[in-house]
Amino acid sequence: MTGRAPLLDRIAAVVGPDHVLTDPALTAGYLTDWARRWSGPALAVVRPASTQEVAEVVAACADAGVPVLPQGGNTGLVGSSVPATHPGAAGPPIVVSTRRLTRMDPVDTLSGQVTVGAGVTLAEAQRHASAAGWEYGVDLAARDSATIGGTIATNAGGIRVIAHGMTRAQVSGIEVVLPDGSVASHLAGLAKDNTGYDLAGLFTGSEGTLGIITAARLRLHRPHAPSSVAIIGVATYDEGLDLLHTAAVSGMPLLAAEIIDETGMDLAMRVSGLPWPLAQRHPLVLLLEVPDGGAGDGFDPNVLGERDVVLGLDATDQARLWSYRELQSEAFSSYATDHAGGAAHKLDVSVPLTHLAACSDEIRRRLDGYPGIVAFGVFGHLGDGNIHVEIVGPPADDEGVDLLVLTAIGDYGGSVSAEHGIGRAKAAYLSLSRSPAEIAAMRAIKDALDPQGLMSPGVLFIDSAAG
Ligand SMILES: Cc1cc2nc3c(=O)[nH]c(=O)nc-3n(C[C@H](O)[C@H](O)[C@H](O)COP(=O)(O)OP(=O)(O)OC[C@H]3O[C@@H](n4cnc5c(N)ncnc54)[C@H](O)[C@@H]3O)c2cc1C
Repeated sequence: MTGRAPLLDRIAAVVGPDHVLTDPALTAGYLTDWARRWSGPALAVVRPASTQEVAEVVAACADAGVPVLPQGGNTGLVGSSVPATHPGAAGPPIVVSTRRLTRMDPVDTLSGQVTVGAGVTLAEAQRHASAAGWEYGVDLAARDSATIGGTIATNAGGIRVIAHGMTRAQVSGIEVVLPDGSVASHLAGLAKDNTGYDLAGLFTGSEGTLGIITAARLRLHRPHAPSSVAIIGVATYDEGLDLLHTAAVSGMPLLAAEIIDETGMDLAMRVSGLPWPLAQRHPLVLLLEVPDGGAGDGFDPNVLGERDVVLGLDATDQARLWSYRELQSEAFSSYATDHAGGAAHKLDVSVPLTHLAACSDEIRRRLDGYPGIVAFGVFGHLGDGNIHVEIVGPPADDEGVDLLVLTAIGDYGGSVSAEHGIGRAKAAYLSLSRSPAEIAAMRAIKDALDPQGLMSPGVLFIDSAAG
C-alpha cells in the first residue's frame, strides 16, 4: 500500500517509483516557468525514459481522464510549459518531463540528417552534429536547457533563422505519442515522400496540445565558414534595415542580424559588468555575423562605411560581442527581480519590415504613462522583423499592458507570436493574428486528435481551459 492515487501507482509501475515526483522540493523547478511569471500545481512530475514508457503513461492518463502536460527544458516564455492556476482551469495535470529521452543516433552523413530523442538539449544536438562535420541550423541563448522536443513543439526561431529558417524547416521526420497513448512514428527522413499529411509539420509548433514528441529526424547543414561579428551603432530601425539591404545587394551573406536598444544594452552591461562597446552612445545597436573564410574580411567596408563599429574576429571577442545580445532576456528578468519584485513581461512579436520603425514608435507611445513601468526595452532578430518587447514594473498578472502591445502589433499587420508560441500568455489574443476560419480548422484538428481535451488544456485555445 503506497497511499498514492491508483493512477500514480500505475505510472510508477511503468517508469519506476523514483521517476514519479510528488515531493514539492523536487517538483518546484518543473512547476514555475523560466520567467517566473506562471506557476501551477501538478498531480506529479513523471520522467519516462523511452517512447514506450511515454506511451504507457499517456494511456494511463487517458484512462483516468487526467490532463497531461509535456515539458522539455522549461525555458518557454509563454506559460505553456507549466500547469495553470486560473479559474476554470482543468484539474492538475501529470507533467511529463522528456529530459530522459536522450537517444542520439549516429549522424547519417549521406543524407545529412540525424535522429535524436526529444529530451536531448539543443546544445547537445549541436555538438553531436558538429563532431560529425555537420551543423544543426537552430540556435538560441537557452541552448543548454532547451530540448529538441521543446524547440520543435514551439517551432523555435533564434539567431540563425536569417540563414536557415525556423525549426520547422529543419525537421524531416517525427515520432509522437498521441493523446490515447498510441505511437505515430515517421523517422525515415526521405527527401521525397508525398504520402499524405505532413505530421512532422503539424506537430512542429503544436505546443504540446496534440501529443508528446518523443524523437525527431533533423536536417543538418554543412558548417558555415569561420565568421566575423560586428556591433554597429545606428540611430533608427530604418537605418538598421537599410544597412541589411545594402549588405544583401552587395552579396554579403548574413548569418545573424540582431538589434538591441540602449535600455537593453545598459541592462546587459549591468548583469555582466561589460563596458559600452562602441565609441559613442546610440539609440540602437546592430549585431551582424558574416562568414569570412577565416581571413577576417567578411565585412564589406562599403557596407560599414564611416559608422561607429567594433569588430570581433577571434572566438573570444565574438563571444564577448554576442553576450550583449544573449544576456537580454536574463538582464530584464534580473532588473525585474531587483526593482519590481517580480517578473518581466516578455512579448515576442513580428511586424512587416516596412512597418517596424513606425510600430516600435507606436508601442513606445502607447506604453508612455502606463502605470508602474520602471523599464521598457526592445531587442530581437532584426532581419526577421521579430522584436522582443520587455516591460518591467506592472504585476505579472497585469494583462492590460500585454494587450496594449499586442493590439498595436495587430494594427500594423504583425503576428502576436513570432517564435515563442501562443501558450497560455496569448491564447486570448490568437484572433488578433488568425481568422475565425483558421482557428476553427485548428480546433477541428485538436478535437479530432484529442477528443477528451487532455493534452495541455488552456494552451493555444482559451476555451479548452474549462474542461
Ligand atoms: C534566455 C532565453 C532565450 C531564448 N531565446 C529564444 C529565441 O531566440 N528564439 C525562440 O524561439 N525561443 C527562445 N526562447 C524560448 C525557449 O527557449 C523556446 O521556446 C524553446 O523552444 C523551449 O524549449 P524547451 O525544451 O525549454 O520547452 P519547454 O519550455 O519545456 O516547453 C515549451 C512548450 O513545448 C511543449 N513541449 C516541450 N517538449 C515537448 C515534447 N517533447 N512534445 C510535445 N510538446 C512539448 C510544452 O508543453 C510547452 O508547450 C528563449 C528562452 C530563454 C530563457
